[in-house]
Amino acid sequence: MDVTDAAEAVRAFLVPAASALTIEQRVGNACIWCPTVILPGQGVSLGDADGCYPHACPPCHELQGAALAAYLDWDHHVTDCTLCRTGPCETTLTMKHEAMRARERAGWGAAYCGRCQRAFGPGETFMPHVWLGTSRVVLSLVHTGPCAVTDPGETGAQPFRTPGWRIQRTSLSRGV
Ligand SMILES: [Zn+2]
Ligand SMILES: [Zn+2]
Ligand SMILES: [Zn+2]
Repeated sequence: MDVTDAAEAVRAFLVPAASALTIEQRVGNACIWCPTVILPGQGVSLGDADGCYPHACPPCHELQGAALAAYLDWDHHVTDCTLCRTGPCETTLTMKHEAMRARERAGWGAAYCGRCQRAFGPGETFMPHVWLGTSRVVLSLVHTGPCAVTDPGETGAQPFRTPGWRIQRTSLSRGV
């Protein structure tokens, strides 16, 4: 799938399952990320599935899209960069910084390791790890240094490549 539209990526990766939404959020009357009321015809449509029509208010959509784009950019870099195989390169450090700031602004919560489930301590190194969970693709972070879980197989997680999920930064505010 070739996606350059941030709205589509947000739809694919960030919209919670219908069961996690309130009735207002399911019918598209409230933003799925904040209490903002969405009037008919307004807000950003996040698709429809199983009678659920989630919407977001434009400010939330932009923040979530920015956090997602920064994360996916970083993930692509780490996957493709030969320098990063031996240790984080300059680019990855910049991308990490951006991704962590964007995620904080989007309210994604404390960053923790998807393998050992511990919050990252100061000075600990980590990187993105995208994998296929039971029902959806999971965008996690994992320790690159010492981790309580040493065998990646222990999570039962299938690594998942996201070819084509490159997001043009310029398209971030599009689709509104
Ligand atoms: Zn909102
Ligand atoms: Zn690198
Ligand atoms: Zn860990």
